[in-house]
Amino acid sequence: MSLSKPNASAATATKKGSISLNNKELNSFEMAQTQLDTAAKMLHLEPGIHAILREPMRELHVSIPVRMDNGKIKVFKGFRVQHNNARGPCKGGIRFHPDETIDTIKALAAWMTWKCAVVDIPFGGSKGGVICNPREMSSSEVERLSRGYIDAVWEFIGPDVDIPAPDVYTNSQVMAWMMDEYSKLKGCYSPAVITGKPLALGGSAGRNDATSRGGLFTIIEAAKHLNIDLSTATVAVQGCGNVGSNLAILINSISGSKIVAISDSKGGIYNEHGLDPNKVLQHKVETGSVINYLGSENISNNELLQLDVDILCPAALENQITQVNASKIRARIVAELANGPTTPEADEVLHDNGVFVIPDFLCNAGGVTVSYFEWVQNTYNYYWEEQEIHQKLNKKMSKAFHNVLSESLKRKVNMRIVAYIVAVSRVAEAMKWRGWV
Ligand code: NAD
Repeated sequence: MSLSKPNASAATATKKGSISLNNKELNSFEMAQTQLDTAAKMLHLEPGIHAILREPMRELHVSIPVRMDNGKIKVFKGFRVQHNNARGPCKGGIRFHPDETIDTIKALAAWMTWKCAVVDIPFGGSKGGVICNPREMSSSEVERLSRGYIDAVWEFIGPDVDIPAPDVYTNSQVMAWMMDEYSKLKGCYSPAVITGKPLALGGSAGRNDATSRGGLFTIIEAAKHLNIDLSTATVAVQGCGNVGSNLAILINSISGSKIVAISDSKGGIYNEHGLDPNKVLQHKVETGSVINYLGSENISNNELLQLDVDILCPAALENQITQVNASKIRARIVAELANGPTTPEADEVLHDNGVFVIPDFLCNAGGVTVSYFEWVQNTYNYYWEEQEIHQKLNKKMSKAFHNVLSESLKRKVNMRIVAYIVAVSRVAEAMKWRGWV
C-alpha cells in the first residue's frame, strides 16, 4: 500500500518489499510508519496516540520444530504480530513463504488495522508468517507445520483476541488443521478462532470471490460518481489469479462491462470487441496462461496498464504503476485490487492527471469483510445464505466508499490520503474512549 505524500517526489520502487523515499531505502514497516506519519500530521494526531500507533502492540517470535518425512527434525521460524486492538480483536492472515521477514509482517499487521477501520468492522490488525517453502514440502509436513504454529501461538490468539486467516501459500485446508489443533488445545470446538475455513467447518458462503465482489461494489459506486455507464465501459485486468479472474467474471456478468484485456505473469491478451472471461480462464487452465487465446492479440503487462480503457484493475503484484508509466495511464478509474500496485510518486501523477484511484485497502477489503461475517456466523452458530452475504458486503463496501469519497471532496485531497485519515481517526477515537491516552 502506498500513501501519496506532499514531499514524496523522490519515491521509487526498489527491490521487492522496499521503497526508496527521498534517496533513503525504506523497508515495508518503515514505509507503513511513514504513511502513518503523513496521516498523523494532517489529522493533528495527539503525539501519544501517534507514538502508540507507530509500533505494534505485540510481536511474537517462535521456533517450530517439525518432524520431516525423512525422520529428521527441522526448526522453522514463525511470527505473529498484533498491531492494535483498540477497536476489537486483531485480525490478519498467516503467510507461509521462504522470503518472509518480520518487517513485512509488521507492516501488514498495521495495514490490517487501517483496512478493518476504513470498512468499519470491529477488528484491529495483525499478521503472521512462517519462513518456509510449502511448495517443497509434502502435505503431511505442511500439516505438522500448521499444527506446530498453533501449538506455539495458541495462548496469544483466540476468537476474542486475534483471529488468523489464509494468506500467501496458506489455504482453507491449512485453516482447517489450525482450527482443529486450537480446538484440541482448548478442549472444545472453536471455529471462530480462524476464518477462511472450508464450508464444512463453519466457513462462510461467498468467501471465495469476496475480495473481487467487494472491489466491484466500490467500482459501481465510483462509476456512479463519475457518470460512467458500466454497461458500456471497457475494462483491463492485470492478473488472472483468484482476485483478477473473479473480478473479470463478475464485472462482465453483473455490470455488463467489456473485458478488453487480461494478463498473467507470462503476458496479456487484448481484443477491442471484448473477451469472454470464463473462456479465457478455461484456456488458462488448459495451457497454463492467458496468452495465445484464440481471437486475441498478445500484449505485454506494461501495454495492458497503458490501454485506453474506462477501468484499470491491477490485481497481481505491488509496484506496477510507477513514475515510469504513471503519466501514460489512460484509464478513468484505477481500482486497486492488488496490495500496493501504485508507488507514492505515481500516485501523485495519477491524481494530477485526474485519474480516480480507489485505494487498495478500501478496494480490496471485501475479503476481510466476509471473514468478519464468517466470525459472526461462527459466534452465533447460525449461517447465512450466499445472497445475504452479498447484500451485507455491498452495504459495507458502498458505505465505506462513500465515507471516504465525501471526506475526499470536503477536504479536497485524494482518496488514498482520506482513507488513511478515516481509518487512523477511527482507531484514535477508540483509543481515547478506552483511556489509553
Ligand atoms: P493469485 O496468486 O491467485 O494471482 C496472482 C496473479 O497475478 C496470477 O494470475 C499471476 O499469474 C499474476 N502475476 C504474477 N506476476 C505477474 C506479473 N508480473 N504481471 C502480471 N500478472 C502477474 O493472487 P490473488 O489472491 O489473486 O491476489 C492478487 C493480489 O490481490 C495480491 O496483491 C494480493 O495481495 C491482493 N489481495 C488478495 C486478496 C484475496 O482475497 N485473495 C485480498 C486482498 C488483497
